[in-house]
Amino acid sequence: EAPRPDASALLSLRNARFAKPQKHYYETPPQIERGWREFLFDMHGRCYLDMVNNVTTLGHAHPRLTTAIAHQWSLLNTNSRFHYSAVAEFSERLATLAPEGLDCVFLVNSGSEANDLAIRLAWAHTGKKNMLCLLEAYHGWTVASDAVSTSIADNPQALTTRPDWVHPVISPNTYRGPFRGPDSASDYLVDLTEKLQSIDEKGDGVAGFIAEPVYGNAGGIALPHGYLARAYDAVRQRGGLCIADEVQVGYGRLGEHFWGFESQDVVPDIVTIAKGMGNGHPLGAVITRREIAESLEREGYFFSSAGGSPVSCVVGLTVLDILRDEKLQENASVVGDRLKAGLIELMDRFPLIGAVHGTGLYLGVEFVRDREALTPATEETAAICERLLDLGVIMQPTGDHLNVLKIKPPLCLAPESADFFVRALEKALQDGF
Ligand code: PMP
Repeated sequence: EAPRPDASALLSLRNARFAKPQKHYYETPPQIERGWREFLFDMHGRCYLDMVNNVTTLGHAHPRLTTAIAHQWSLLNTNSRFHYSAVAEFSERLATLAPEGLDCVFLVNSGSEANDLAIRLAWAHTGKKNMLCLLEAYHGWTVASDAVSTSIADNPQALTTRPDWVHPVISPNTYRGPFRGPDSASDYLVDLTEKLQSIDEKGDGVAGFIAEPVYGNAGGIALPHGYLARAYDAVRQRGGLCIADEVQVGYGRLGEHFWGFESQDVVPDIVTIAKGMGNGHPLGAVITRREIAESLEREGYFFSSAGGSPVSCVVGLTVLDILRDEKLQENASVVGDRLKAGLIELMDRFPLIGAVHGTGLYLGVEFVRDREALTPATEETAAICERLLDLGVIMQPTGDHLNVLKIKPPLCLAPESADFFVRALEKALQDGF
């Protein structure tokens, strides 16, 4: 047998064979080979606290999930056009979790697919094409989900290359946007109303509005009070549909709420989910009202070979069972509060911390060079992430200025791990980075 390549040869192989635009963490990444709960282990057995992995909601290598997947693989995994119990049970569970009226489910394989399908549903149902979205947003990589993605951190050309059916609206960023504080909804809604009026004037109508109900990509910032309710009203008055992208913020991560849209007291027309619902297994879904779902028939059948396969549905069901049985939403709330309190306490000693955003286990620590001018501390944030890696913590920046730590660990995070993260950040800030 040929000898296996060593670590540096493997990294060279990856660099040589992987297409360059594919994102990766760290210039010199640790070679991660195992996971357990909120911990990752590299090839040398070094342990890291995984504070960034919002995909692995339950924690890494969950034994109950592993057993369920292995068992289902040993029985059946197939093209999702067949009928089997897991697809019926999982679709029913999702419809039960969603607000009343949202009773129809499409199963897909990722968040990008879910958002793409949601946009296609809005097009098919309204017969219109124009979509409103927010600035500083990310919704996926497929053609339609990418079109409504405006984050310049993900694509520096995003603002000059959107198709003409995409109408980005000022980010209601209550920390650093043009209007500050939780009561700024009216000010932010002026831009949204103007965009809608200019679509009205052209006479080609609006298909919908897509937004994260908590500003995930900007670092977990809450939208201003009442923003979505009034935005949804304005869009619906014109016959458009409102899409809530719950790919990051939904499914219990916020602690207090299972769904992000509950924090804004709204019910969307279409909800998209992925990431945490599969604990890393490729799984996504669109949940909507029957009449919206059925309007897609005008465009022919919908079919995704692996979307909603027996294994995927068993994964989805088991993830929901574990979330419930291990009370992970409650844990997100309790440990999230503890973590946030620890981070806020650091603010007194470290002026670089401008704000601690978020709730539950979706938090963002925003670094600024000056608390008045809010000058983004972009280089410092990158250096802090590198230093945290030395200290045994996986952490990455987010937001248009890449100056916010995106804190979204597995929901099984132990209180001791939350404390470890606060102490590691304190050390990085104390020692310099
Ligand atoms: N929506 C949001 C809010 C996301 O954060 C992401 C992924 N970062 C997506 C959609 C796309 O999901 P996926 O990577 O599963 O295609």
